[in-house]
Amino acid sequence: MIIVTVKKFNESQKQTLFKLLVESGYKYQDTNFDGRQVVVVPDLNTGKLKDKITKLSGIEKIVEVKEPYQLCSFNAKSSATVISVCDFKVGDGAFGVIGGPCTVESEKQTIDIAIQVRKAGATALRGGAFKPRTSPYAFQGLKEAGLKILAKARAETGLAIVTEAMSCSEVSLVAEYADVVQVGTRNAQNYRLLEKCGEMRVPILLKRGFSCTLEEFLMSAEYILAGGNNQVILCERGIRTFETYQRYTFPAGSIPMLKTLTHLPLVVDPSHAAGRAEFVPALAFAAAAVGADGLLVEVHNNPESALCDGRQSLTPKEFACMLKKCKKIVNLVNKKD
Ligand code: PEP
Ligand code: MN
Repeated sequence: MIIVTVKKFNESQKQTLFKLLVESGYKYQDTNFDGRQVVVVPDLNTGKLKDKITKLSGIEKIVEVKEPYQLCSFNAKSSATVISVCDFKVGDGAFGVIGGPCTVESEKQTIDIAIQVRKAGATALRGGAFKPRTSPYAFQGLKEAGLKILAKARAETGLAIVTEAMSCSEVSLVAEYADVVQVGTRNAQNYRLLEKCGEMRVPILLKRGFSCTLEEFLMSAEYILAGGNNQVILCERGIRTFETYQRYTFPAGSIPMLKTLTHLPLVVDPSHAAGRAEFVPALAFAAAAVGADGLLVEVHNNPESALCDGRQSLTPKEFACMLKKCKKIVNLVNKKD
């Protein structure tokens, strides 16, 4: 059950509601969407609770939700969520572009790429300082030194910083430097990590687990929202299927589907889905055409020498050319006939 309050719900009304829930023996999770208190009571046996709550002042609606995800759904919030940090804005028609290397390699590499992705139209810089690598022998990232470089790149370019954290302790550290904390595909169902992200008050970019159903993907986002952090950006980055010629499979249909299920903004990462730079633009065009709210793209000024994911990285020139076409597609799709 979801309880949605009016926008001007004051502290004493809030305490009265919470006291009633506690005294009636119910557990609840709450968050705030645009000034409204939104409270989830997971217990299915809510008996007379609904009648009691209806009598309180400031209650707008009480909804019985059939889906397991509650705060992600339009029952909890009917308007699209927009996430905005520095010049980066995503959701409800705002097409936010995040570009940058797979990993931060050096200050020069990062700042050179940052300047070029900014020029091409990106408003956020990506780059891993903590890298989830399949091999323990592969480059694991510059860690805090990498975060410091990213912060310098923000100071130089004004780009918002998006970078990954893989553990609870990394989340707090990454949040000291970054504007958006990324949770990668391999951690998409790391529930303790998601709970930690829920405690934070920094936007979280949550990648879809490569074996997650859309419902599982939304349940992972629900963990973050249930902790009180209402700033979640979903990222479709491709799933694992029986297909082996591409690194992952980009399920274009997940975009319009998710758009009917959730108010959260949804970006697409065509780079990890394609695995090869030559296919990245086609997947990005598809993403723009099916209604994605933005893109997360790997860009490197010298892909052959990249320490990680060079094979799928676009050059800044290719990135700029791709973005121009994406913007045209977005305009065409958004055009009212
Ligand atoms: C990344 O963005 O560099 C990354 C590791 O992505 P994913 O978690 O989608 O594989
Ligand atoms: Mn990568």
